[in-house]
Amino acid sequence: MSNESIDYQGILEEILEEVQPFFGKGKNADYIPVLAEVPGDKFGMAVRTIDGREFSIGDAKESFSIQSISKLFTLMQVLGFSDCDIWSRVGREPSGTAFNSLVQLEYEKGIPRNPFINAGALVITDIINSRSADASRRIDDYYRLLSGNPQNRVDEVVATSERNHGFRNAALANLMCSFGNIHSPIPEVLEVYFRQCALTTSCIDLARAVLPLACAGYSSFAGQQILSAREAKRINALLLTCGLYDAVGSFAYRVGLPAKSGVGGGIVAVLPQHLTVAVWSPELDRYGNSLVGAQALELFTTKTGLSIF
Ligand code: GLU
Repeated sequence: MSNESIDYQGILEEILEEVQPFFGKGKNADYIPVLAEVPGDKFGMAVRTIDGREFSIGDAKESFSIQSISKLFTLMQVLGFSDCDIWSRVGREPSGTAFNSLVQLEYEKGIPRNPFINAGALVITDIINSRSADASRRIDDYYRLLSGNPQNRVDEVVATSERNHGFRNAALANLMCSFGNIHSPIPEVLEVYFRQCALTTSCIDLARAVLPLACAGYSSFAGQQILSAREAKRINALLLTCGLYDAVGSFAYRVGLPAKSGVGGGIVAVLPQHLTVAVWSPELDRYGNSLVGAQALELFTTKTGLSIF
C-alpha cells in the first residue's frame, strides 16, 4: 500500500473505537499531584504526513502537559549548538531502570545513561542554562517555533506542583553535581527543568514539532533546517532505544517506531521520510507510558502497515 492511498482519517476513527476497552486500566501520574486531576478518559491522536496532510481525532487539539517529551526538544536544541560535545557528559544507552532512578549514577560516576531519563535531561538543561541568561524562555521559544503555535506556554500550576514535589530530581542533580557533571547552580537547573516539563502542547502541535525528525532535519513550521540529516537520524536512533523508559524494547516490538513519551500521557512517534504521529491519553502503565496511547500506536502501525521494520 502506498502512503497516499492510506485512509488515515478512517484508521484514526477505527482506533478510537478499538481503544475504548483499555480506558480505566491505567492510572494518571500522581507524584506530580496536579496531573492526577486530568480526566482519565481523554484521548486525542494526530497524524502529519511530510507532504503536509494532517489528520486528527478526539481531543487532538486539547492542551496537556508535555512532561518528558520536552527532553526530546531540549536535546534537539543542544545538538543545534555547533561547538558542544554533549556525549562526554551523557551516554547513549538504554537505562533499563525507571526514568527517575538514581542507582546507575553512583557507579557510572555521575554520567547518565541517556538524554531521555531525568538525569540525562537535567544535564542537557544545564548545558542550555549555562549558555543563556533566560534558558526557560529559550526552550519555550524553540518549542513554539517548531510547533508553529505561540500559544504553547508554561502551565504555572503544573510548574509549581513539579517544584513542590521535585525531591528526586533535586537528588539526581545533587548527585551529578558531586561528580562535576552539573555546572550551573542546582536551583537554576531544576527551575528550568520543571518549567520545560510544564509546557503545554496538543497532539497536533507535537506532530508538527517533530517534523524535522521525519524530514531530514527540516521544519516546515520554522521554515528552516533545524538539524542536519545526520543528527535527525541519530536522534531517531536514540528515541528507538531510549525513548520509552524501561519499556522501550516492548514498545519497539509492539509499535516499531522511534518515539518519546511523557508522564502527562503524551507519546510522539516518527516514521522517517513519511510521517509523524502523536497521541494523548493520561492513564499510564506501570512504566509511566500512556497505556491507551501505546495501544493506539500499535493499532496505527498494524492497520497502516507502516513502521521502520
Ligand atoms: N516532570 C517529570 C519528572 O521530572 C517528567 C517525567 C516524565 O515525563 O517522564 O519527574
